[in-house]
Amino acid sequence: MKTIGLLGGMSWESSIEYERIINQEVRHRLGGVHSADLLIRSYNFHDIEALQETDQWDEAGRRLATDAAALERAGADIIILCTNTMHRVADTIEAAIHVPFLHLADATARAVVAAGVNKVALLGTAYTMEQDFYRGRLAHHGLEVIVPDETDRAFVHGVIFDELVRGVVTAESKAGFLEVIGRLVRGGAQGVIAGCTEIELLVGVDDVDVPYFPTTRIHALAAVDVALAD
Ligand code: GLU
Repeated sequence: MKTIGLLGGMSWESSIEYERIINQEVRHRLGGVHSADLLIRSYNFHDIEALQETDQWDEAGRRLATDAAALERAGADIIILCTNTMHRVADTIEAAIHVPFLHLADATARAVVAAGVNKVALLGTAYTMEQDFYRGRLAHHGLEVIVPDETDRAFVHGVIFDELVRGVVTAESKAGFLEVIGRLVRGGAQGVIAGCTEIELLVGVDDVDVPYFPTTRIHALAAVDVALAD
């Protein structure tokens, strides 16, 4: 079994889900008392959020790349970055390591394509919904990506940063997300990407009538596929 290196803590509310899903899946596939072989670098999200807000992506990229290289030196055979947003600096991380980097948008796009969905809605932070680093990567897989309107984007972004990354999950925000999803589906979305690793803590597969793509789960399972491959 390969060792998975995780860049996490962005936020830890979702990183612990990565750890749980990966371990559960390894036990499911190998049985007995098997569990995953993991190396985890978990950041103080306060520092990362400050770099995002002040547009210091280069500095954020340097920190993540340095730590990805450290995980590799410590024995990681693959690296995953446990946040959609920070994939803005994925190229910097990939350039710093020699082991595979499993890109979250690629894993997600493969799941969307496999489900037969062409036009997909993307929910996430404003960075993820509005900038090209993630939407463009999805589009490379042949997907048409739509995002909520400005008001709905502000609502989704606000719930992520004011609630979900702080461990706050409310019925009111869930209802709001489902309304946003309803508008996107009426706008032609055949499926919805929960393109922020905390969103699936609020809205689950069973809450949505169209195909729903929870990125934490998809990414974690893709990492297990690689870790257990020959
Ligand atoms: N975990 C989130 C994501 O998947 C948001 C936190 C962050 O800004 O990194 O985008």
